[in-house]
Amino acid sequence: MDYSQFFNAALNRLHDERRYRVFADLERIAGRFPHATWHSPKGSRNVVIWCSNDYLGMGQHPKVVGAMVETATRVGTGAGGTRNIAGTHHPLVALEAELADLHGKQASLLFTSGYVSNQTGISTLAKLIPNCLILSDALNHNSMIEGVRQAGCERQIFRHNDVAHLEELLIAAGPDRPKLIICESLYSMDGDVAPLGKICDLAEKYGAMTYVDEVHAVGMYGPRGGGIAERDGVMHRIDIVEGTLAKAFGCLGGYIAGKAEVIDAVRSYAPGFIFTTALPPAICSAATAAIRHLKTSSWERERHQDRAARTKAILTAAGLPVMSSDTHIVPLFVGDPEKCKRASDLLLEDHGIYIQPINYPTVAKGTERLRITPSPYHDDGLIDALAEALLQVWDRLGLPLHQKPLAAE
Ligand SMILES: *Cc1c(COP(=O)(O)O)cnc(C)c1O
Repeated sequence: MDYSQFFNAALNRLHDERRYRVFADLERIAGRFPHATWHSPKGSRNVVIWCSNDYLGMGQHPKVVGAMVETATRVGTGAGGTRNIAGTHHPLVALEAELADLHGKQASLLFTSGYVSNQTGISTLAKLIPNCLILSDALNHNSMIEGVRQAGCERQIFRHNDVAHLEELLIAAGPDRPKLIICESLYSMDGDVAPLGKICDLAEKYGAMTYVDEVHAVGMYGPRGGGIAERDGVMHRIDIVEGTLAKAFGCLGGYIAGKAEVIDAVRSYAPGFIFTTALPPAICSAATAAIRHLKTSSWERERHQDRAARTKAILTAAGLPVMSSDTHIVPLFVGDPEKCKRASDLLLEDHGIYIQPINYPTVAKGTERLRITPSPYHDDGLIDALAEALLQVWDRLGLPLHQKPLAAE
């Protein structure tokens, strides 16, 4: 039997649909983010990264790098096993305390990634609630969808951020049915924000539990970086907060935070926690350093918002199709998978600007886009150069520009 044919056929399907993905070979330069070296097929080149989810550049922060190096030097590299086999190393204990404090919760539990925390966290929680009905936002991340699927219980999807629809489903479920509402606080493809206060109102009124993915908000919103829930003053009303250490905190790992008994139950039952090796001590120490720093320093958050606002303003003024977004995400509409990929290639090859194309299935077909993520370290000169490069690429590909706003009389 020729097994290769199956894999080649699968790859050809992606090529035919223009969905085959290529990842650039990049090497970031600590201390000079967003500058990086691109190991291109034609040799090494300097490029500027405009699509990193290391939103605040914490991955190069001296305190964070320092903590990682110091801890690895002092205690070594790996964790030495699952926590069931090898116990919990001390930096991980400190990190979980830091995270519980960040979200004002009794406890937190660390996983190897945000993906795993959603997948195994949601499925375990729902399995522990008899006859649980999951109410899930239509645009939830794949890791949450997988968690819901693995839970195996009944689930209903409410229209994205539509609290009236959510209320209909809560009423239809009846007061006696246990219900778990699952949503994100900040949706990272459009940059829109969930009405968390209203969702909490409904959860309280109809007796539902709430689980909120704050992956794209932790570190970046709220006075201490606790996320949108902290910013909106509803953190104490959310039952389970889920987050990542891999985006604004610049490291790796995921977690949930909530009441002690909820966290203890997940710790005791979740296969995706029990049967996998804990994160290394050096990563835990680095993450703790990033979280601690962002609890008291607002400079990164303020500068981040300022840079995002300026990028939106400059690109919009140039006539580029910036999609409306309430947050730090700057999506630029392309609406065609081929041209989206082409635009990304031209930006990199001709202008030394790296922005990954966002195509189906990450976003709906026909809404392909370039997703731009300015950081505190993208200065005015880089923003102007980005606008200029985009205009040239737009021209070359025959992509439409908006009418330039008329100059004030
Ligand atoms: C990136 C992402 C995750 C997964 O987090 P990782 O730590 O990268 O595994 C979970 N939820 C959302 C909404 C994400 O965008």
